[in-house]
Amino acid sequence: MTRVAIIGNGVAATTAVREIRSKDQTLEIDVFSDERHPYYPRPNLIDLVANRRTVKETIQHDLDWYEKNDVDLFLSTPVFQIDTEEMAVMSTSEDYKQYDSILIAVGCRPFIPPFEGLDKNNIHVIRTLDDALDIRDAVKGAGQEIIIGGGILGIELAAAMKEVGGDPIVVDYDNHLLPLQLDTLGSSVLAKLLGKKGIQVRFGYDCRGILGDRDAEGIVSKQGEEIAGDLVVIATGVRSNTIIAKNSGIEIHHGILADEHMQTSAKGVFAAGDCMEWKNNEWYGIIPWATATGRIAAQNMMEFGSAKFEGITPSNQLQVAGIDLTSIGIALPESPEYETIVSVDHDEGKYYKAVLKDDVLVGGIALGSRKVALKLRSLIMKGENIADIKQSLFEDV
Ligand SMILES: Cc1cc2nc3c(=O)[nH]c(=O)nc-3n(C[C@H](O)[C@H](O)[C@H](O)COP(=O)(O)OP(=O)(O)OC[C@H]3O[C@@H](n4cnc5c(N)ncnc54)[C@H](O)[C@@H]3O)c2cc1C
Repeated sequence: MTRVAIIGNGVAATTAVREIRSKDQTLEIDVFSDERHPYYPRPNLIDLVANRRTVKETIQHDLDWYEKNDVDLFLSTPVFQIDTEEMAVMSTSEDYKQYDSILIAVGCRPFIPPFEGLDKNNIHVIRTLDDALDIRDAVKGAGQEIIIGGGILGIELAAAMKEVGGDPIVVDYDNHLLPLQLDTLGSSVLAKLLGKKGIQVRFGYDCRGILGDRDAEGIVSKQGEEIAGDLVVIATGVRSNTIIAKNSGIEIHHGILADEHMQTSAKGVFAAGDCMEWKNNEWYGIIPWATATGRIAAQNMMEFGSAKFEGITPSNQLQVAGIDLTSIGIALPESPEYETIVSVDHDEGKYYKAVLKDDVLVGGIALGSRKVALKLRSLIMKGENIADIKQSLFEDV
């Protein structure tokens, strides 16, 4: 094997580069990215909006890193197709090379519902460093900022805006925040904590469109209720980037389908991270998923069959100063075979939940205590029977 291509330059891609270089110093590595910046972790973007980091501090691997690791980085070079017969990458670069193996690690794009009035100025999404810079600049002159979507990203963004003097309101059509990580009771505790920080939350608001002539001036719901605001951020989820796979005849479902070796339906072509779907339906848009799958893909690219993916225990954390929230494993069980143990203190802003199956902890929520989060995580990882301690789980923490 002499040469590999990695399409994408996010955390899945850079994990794959690191994994390859830890074992092989000679393999030629070409990395293609459609962005103009080298690698930065996306959580840093929230700090950038909050003015806690500069652009330089946001970027984790500068160009020297690629040089030191002997990687040819092609920035601002979108790839649109792979010739799976010739094993070549078709991009805006003029180079046309053949590769022994190719990794697709192109992540996600923001999902934008078909709202009316999307053509107005001052409507944003947040995925890239340039998106974050645009939002940071826009917050300066804005009155009220509207964030559509009460997921982790929407709330972290609202808190960042508040930090730089904004007046954000988060709206969601659901009746609770973080619907993927939190239940209704936990959401009510979180909404109260956010209220204390000056972040307004509006539930049950089904946005229909953006108001204004040329610039966004607010939003309107399906029921006709208007909310004024001069900056709108749409944070209503993401969709896997599957266009390269589609153009190349590689099988897709919601994401690019990959087997336990992270190999796609095309031999020698692998997929990892947010763009990849494992075993028809398993997918998480989080960093642990991207690093785990990036590492497995790299190992199999170097020696096919050397590593098998066995899934991850998903874990999400809300990173807002003064609010500690972790949701881990099966936090929202849907079947009666699970037992749940809950402890709530609205005044103190604390909410703990343990989810057990056959007396083994399989998931939980910790809002208001890092110690509880660590305890839950450790018990989930151990996978032991905790029948004797389950009723006192939250007592001494
Ligand atoms: C603001 C923000 C904060 C987040 N915070 C957290 C957090 O705290 N914890 C957590 O676990 N997760 C967090 N996430 C999610 C996490 O960042 C993603 O799960 C992770 O980045 C996925 O990594 P990836 O490498 O698969 O994709 P990405 O990081 O999206 O990287 C994809 C790469 O592919 C490139 N690309 C796309 N299309 C093409 C193309 N056609 N040609 C060439 N290159 C292309 C992109 O430019 C990018 O370099 C956050 C996300 C955002 C947006």
